[in-house]
Amino acid sequence: MILGKPLNEDMNLRPIKYQWAYDLYNQAVANTWFPHEIALGEDLDDWRKMTEDEKSAVSFLMSFFNPGELIVNRTLALGVYPYLKAPEAHLYLAKQMWEEANHCVAFEYVLETFPLDKEKIFAQHLEIPSIKAKEDFIAKFLNRMSDTSLDIESLAGKQEFVRNLVAYNIVMEGTWFYSGFMVALSFRQKQKLKNFGSMIDWVVRDESLHLKFGINLILTILEENLELATAEFAEEIKNIIIDGVNLETAYNRDLFPRGILGINADYVNQYVEYIADRRLEELGFEPHFKTVNPAQWMATETDTLELVNFFEAQNTKYEVDNRAHK
Ligand code: MN
Ligand code: FE
Repeated sequence: MILGKPLNEDMNLRPIKYQWAYDLYNQAVANTWFPHEIALGEDLDDWRKMTEDEKSAVSFLMSFFNPGELIVNRTLALGVYPYLKAPEAHLYLAKQMWEEANHCVAFEYVLETFPLDKEKIFAQHLEIPSIKAKEDFIAKFLNRMSDTSLDIESLAGKQEFVRNLVAYNIVMEGTWFYSGFMVALSFRQKQKLKNFGSMIDWVVRDESLHLKFGINLILTILEENLELATAEFAEEIKNIIIDGVNLETAYNRDLFPRGILGINADYVNQYVEYIADRRLEELGFEPHFKTVNPAQWMATETDTLELVNFFEAQNTKYEVDNRAHK
């Protein structure tokens, strides 16, 4: 069982039970990068030619992403790491936490390089209701994980774990972050901020592994705890993902008072619906929105993962999967 309170006997890496977690750890180490390898200063020429709306879109993105990286780390430290027994999962989470710290420093480098109003950026996530609503959504699930009465061995405890995991991983990292990445990469689509675009590419590469880890973890927990696999709980999980889409579409309407770079809130929100459908499919649900991807240029390798199936899997398939993990 991957879920549970780690005991002394869980402190040896070998034998590895969850090879996927160790493989992701090694892949993540191989993906290591450093923000200052990127010549962000070369983007300043573009910056000076940008419109006020374009600059304020970058500022708005930073308002969410900057605390966002640290919120993910807090969630991993308090809501995920303490409840997993497998050392290989702990290795991965340690690397992911370094990556989130590295992303925080990367965005700090953006704030140092471009003439942005840092005080405004640091204050905005507490003041703008659509950003605050996203943070409150994540905090609501995490707070339950830090409640000392939570018993991870109980059905209620396991359900809380999965809800929190879906909220920070599928919704925040897997949907909200991709919405922001798409906006950030739109500048490069218009031949602007190419180095900033390279930085976002590296962040996306990291985030795609965070998402793979989260999805594998959800599927493993469901396989190992069949009492969780009820139609009712599946519906609840699906609704968390749909609630996440609604928060993001409201946020994007604030991000884009007017269009920039040939895109606007409607365009980005179509992408949000498209990406949420991919996340639903990755968890084995049917798509909910059935929205066509308006941004084909966001290469499918970077924004979608190979299909996995759980909720709608046949019993036979799932026994095979179960055996494969042992
Ligand atoms: Mn990150
Ligand atoms: Fe992440």
